Formats: sequence, C-alpha cells, structure tokens
Amino acid sequence: MTVKQYYQDAYVKGFQTSIQDQKQDQSGWYVVLEETAFYPTGGGQPHDTGTIMDKRIINVEEVNGEIRHYIEEPFEDISGVVEGQIDWKRRFDHMQQHAGQHILSAAFAEALQYETISFHLGKEFLTIDLNVNDISEADALQAEELANRIIREVRPIETKWVTEAELSDYPLRKQPAVTGEIRLVIIPEFDYNGCGGTHPRSTSEVGAIKILDWEKHKGHIRLQFVCGERVLYQLHRKHGILKELTSVLQAPEETMVPTAEQLIAKQKEQEKALEGLKEVLLTYEAEGLLGVQKDGFTLIQKVYSDRPIQELQKIAQHIVSKREEAVVMLVVQNDQKLQLVAAKGSLPAINLREVAQKVFPLINGKGGGKESFVQGGGEAVMSKEELLEILINQL
Ligand SMILES: [Zn+2]
Repeated sequence: MTVKQYYQDAYVKGFQTSIQDQKQDQSGWYVVLEETAFYPTGGGQPHDTGTIMDKRIINVEEVNGEIRHYIEEPFEDISGVVEGQIDWKRRFDHMQQHAGQHILSAAFAEALQYETISFHLGKEFLTIDLNVNDISEADALQAEELANRIIREVRPIETKWVTEAELSDYPLRKQPAVTGEIRLVIIPEFDYNGCGGTHPRSTSEVGAIKILDWEKHKGHIRLQFVCGERVLYQLHRKHGILKELTSVLQAPEETMVPTAEQLIAKQKEQEKALEGLKEVLLTYEAEGLLGVQKDGFTLIQKVYSDRPIQELQKIAQHIVSKREEAVVMLVVQNDQKLQLVAAKGSLPAINLREVAQKVFPLINGKGGGKESFVQGGGEAVMSKEELLEILINQL
C-alpha cells in the first residue's frame, strides 16, 4: 500500500506494515510507517484516529510529504511487522460528511448556480459558504431535495488519477490547486472535483442530507447542515428537547409555539402590573413618613439599605408634591456606595444644591440637580446615619 492507495481504497480498516522511523517534534512523539491507511488532516477533512499495536494514534499530519502518526508515548521496539487499526466510526462519519458536502455543493450549483467558496467539517455539523448575499427557504429546500435524490439514486462515486493535460476532458467547477498528477472524484453527470479526501463508493452511503440553518457571513451565506448518522443524531437530540418542552409547557408539539408566546406575553403583562403596584406602594410609604417641625419647614428624613435610588427619588417627589413646606433628606447604602436624595416643596428658602455640594466631597462623591431637588452618591467612608446628620446640619 502506497500513500496514494489509502485514498483509492477508503474502506481499509486494518492493515499490516512496518515502522520506518520514530521521532519527536514540538507536537510530541510520532512514527512514520512503510505504508499507511491513516488519513492525515487535509482538504477540509479531519485526520483519522486509531491504533498501531497497543498505541493510540491521536493525530495524523502530513509534513513535507512525511505522514506523522502521533502517539502518546514512544514504542520501546519498532522492529518487525505492526498492525494498524483505523477508528472506523470516526472515519466513516468523515466519509459521509465529506461526500455529502460534495453532493450538496453540486446540488446548489446545479439547481441555483450558487457556488461553494469554502467549507468546514466540524464536530457537530458542517458549513459551506455560498457566494450569494441571501437565500430563501425555497432555495434551501430545492437544493436539499436534489441532494437527497442523488443519494437515493445510488450513484457511484468514482476516483480517477489524471494528468493536467487530461483535465480539460472533464467539466470541473473549479480548477484544482495542485499540479502534476491530479485525483478526480466523480459522481457521473453530476459532480467532477479535484479532491484528496476519503469517500464512500456510492452516494447511497451518505444516507441523507439535512440543512439546519444559515446566516449572513462576510457578504456570503454560511449554511449549516448534517449528513449520514448525524441526521439521526440531530433528530434524536432535537426530539428529546421537544419532548421535555411538551411537559414543561404542558402543550403538544403542534401548539408549543403559541403556548410559549402566550406565556411570555402574560409575563410581560404581569411585570407591568407589578410596576404599577410598586408605584402605589411607594406613595403609601411616602405618606407614612413623619416629619419634625423646624424653623419655617417640616424636615422628613430616613436612611435605607439596599434600595434602588429611583425608589428614593419617587418617595421624595411624592412628598414635596403634596407638602409645600417639606424638606426631604433620604440616604441609602448600597454595598460600598452611599447615595442621597434631597428635595423640598415650594416654601422653604433653602438651596439644596448648595447644601449637597458641601457634603459630596466628604464621601469622594458627586451629584447634581437644582435648588429644589438634588441627588448623587459616593463611597461608604462613613455610616448612612452619619451622612444624614451632616446633611441636616448644613440646613
Ligand atoms: Zn472529496
């Protein structure tokens, strides 16, 4: 088996060979084999994993024409015949996804003249980038349908080595980047591609193709899809979530969306109602605060912990709107912050802004407002009671 051969027969799961060399690079220990069936990362397809004798192959990379099989620890003895085993579940999954990508890209080109400009084979799903700005649901369905028809028609997937001169005999969508002898992957009368990846013998082995979603990405459309076993996995997982939601929402699949929409609308309504009730409660709270008589005004004061300053504003505003002779001083401590609100009715001849400006520097704080209403805050370098006392002494 030469390096070329593992491309030609993608179905080799186990093989015998010998170890040519054992070396180390920055990625770790690796062996080079006389012949190999392990696929190295390349052409958008991830590397194989598996074993050589009792050693796990954790990565396979091609570096300067050398295929490096990375192992967790080196062999003590590299002489004699060794047995290699490909992790077939992983490899066959890659074959299904990779060939599925050929088929879906060709379907988009055939049905809609949308060209694939790049693709990625991820752990969960694949993506292709199409050279269009937008795509409709109907477009996606049309390409998906054609792709699945090609799968059902059990078309052969053939590989052929050709010279550069022979390339013009084939209707390739894209000129291969490599020169010299070129490997073509052919689905007759449907797709002709220069490709070095591993493929099943027929389209039927891809099983099925399902487009999941798409989004705009750098002026193109990035489309997510799955092939083969991954279609079943997605169905299983998504159905599991739907089943759980059926019991959470107490609604069957068919009415799940309107049920969820109703719940969210109801929640928003309740939040609004709660907001209104809070306002009412704050006015009662404001009216319950008692004042003490001073020279020409009534002083109403209070300290709080852990309350939004907006509530203090509302309390103060409510009081001074009802009582023209009132001066209100409220202080709250929220964590390491001290905040204050001061307000007055129309009668007392006091400039609250001037009062507060004298106090803010004492708590390394700042604030603002007008003569009749001021607010601000700073650091809790003193207690809230102390701050209130200092404020009142300024009156
Ligand atoms: Zn390919």
